[in-house]
Amino acid sequence: MTTHSTNQSIAVEWACVGTEQIIEAWQEIIWDNDGRITGIVHIPASKKALRKKAKGKIALPGFVNAHAHLELSTGNALPLLAEESMGDWLLSVVNASRAVEDVQAVILQGFEEALASGTTTIASTVRELSVALIALYKLPPIRSIWWLEWFHPSSDVSLEKLESLQNAYHGAIFYLNSFPDAIVNRTQLGLSPHSPYNVSLQAWQALHQGLLADEKQTIWQTHLLESTEEVAYYQKTAINPEENSIDKVHQTLLGKAFQPVLPCPEDIVASLAAFDLLQPTLSVVHGLELSIEQAEQLANSGVSLITCPRSNQFLHKKMVNELLLWHPTLSIAIGTDAHVSLPNPTVLDMRLELQALKLAYPWLTWEALLVMATLNGAKALGLAGQVGELTEGTWADIAVWQVPQQLEELSPEALLESVLNSAQKPTQVIVGGISS
Ligand SMILES: [Zn+2]
Repeated sequence: MTTHSTNQSIAVEWACVGTEQIIEAWQEIIWDNDGRITGIVHIPASKKALRKKAKGKIALPGFVNAHAHLELSTGNALPLLAEESMGDWLLSVVNASRAVEDVQAVILQGFEEALASGTTTIASTVRELSVALIALYKLPPIRSIWWLEWFHPSSDVSLEKLESLQNAYHGAIFYLNSFPDAIVNRTQLGLSPHSPYNVSLQAWQALHQGLLADEKQTIWQTHLLESTEEVAYYQKTAINPEENSIDKVHQTLLGKAFQPVLPCPEDIVASLAAFDLLQPTLSVVHGLELSIEQAEQLANSGVSLITCPRSNQFLHKKMVNELLLWHPTLSIAIGTDAHVSLPNPTVLDMRLELQALKLAYPWLTWEALLVMATLNGAKALGLAGQVGELTEGTWADIAVWQVPQQLEELSPEALLESVLNSAQKPTQVIVGGISS
């Protein structure tokens, strides 16, 4: 079955083209029935009618939100109280369980917010893949990645739980493949050991190697070094469950305290490397406490870092280390995290994340920020060359905006700023050639 789209091209005055994201004037972007771009061509001055249609519009690759928890989007943030630790806060989030219909309703809300602000790909962790997949039938066309989130603190890898996880993952792939092509084409599954502090590296490795035996392309995402509390946790050699509120989370999630088994307890990144878990198919989220050396190791292994600026500010009052932003090879992508961890407005709008980063680090250009929100996101999700850029052969995932008329200086930076530093809604959002 092939997706049929009614409109197979758009005409714009400016398009952000290719992996270099060059702003080219007067472009028509054309795609085929499958929704892949087949050409980006210049509109000559002689084509007056087409130029009139294109006037004042700019086409950007749709944003890639590389980290969210759509099921935790209650619409109202759970405040992190002054007397509360990160662990206490996580616990209250974890304890706020809801009905399947409610979960699907908030997933829909997240999708709508994303599309309405120019995001065409969103990656979200979820506890049960079936809940998310059933919702796909009801959801507007947006490209989505669903990570099956799991916890397994025990170093015992012979447990049935690992097998059931693998079965759940394979079952979900099988189930997804029974969906119409249009949905299959814009949906991808992956695995998310929540964090190395609540998934033992032994269990992680066992699943990694088991899955890699037949599915080399499986994508992985984990939270890493988000808080100083987490660092303290890794550095402990013995855990007193009363001492650290992260232990309270473990006890709720897992029914027991967790003692991490690390070959190099002082360095979790070195431990991940020792277990052969640092691969280009892995992305790590937050990394607020990453050292430069650890970041270097991630970069050398092709692991992407995903930063969630507003959530980081809200929960930890800090942002990704400025020095990491200067790193020549570390690929940094952007996520929104969840409604529950966002300050007001609790909206999954990637531009709010870019604006927060720009405010903290004014030297970042809008061009660099766009790369983080598009190309780097695609790379982090294993979708490089598929999304995050407008190039022949990539999916036609495009956000079109009307540039304010009063804009006089038409430098690429000014054009991008007019879109990225605004709350203006896109005039059109296209995913795989389908306009929503
Ligand atoms: Zn998260």
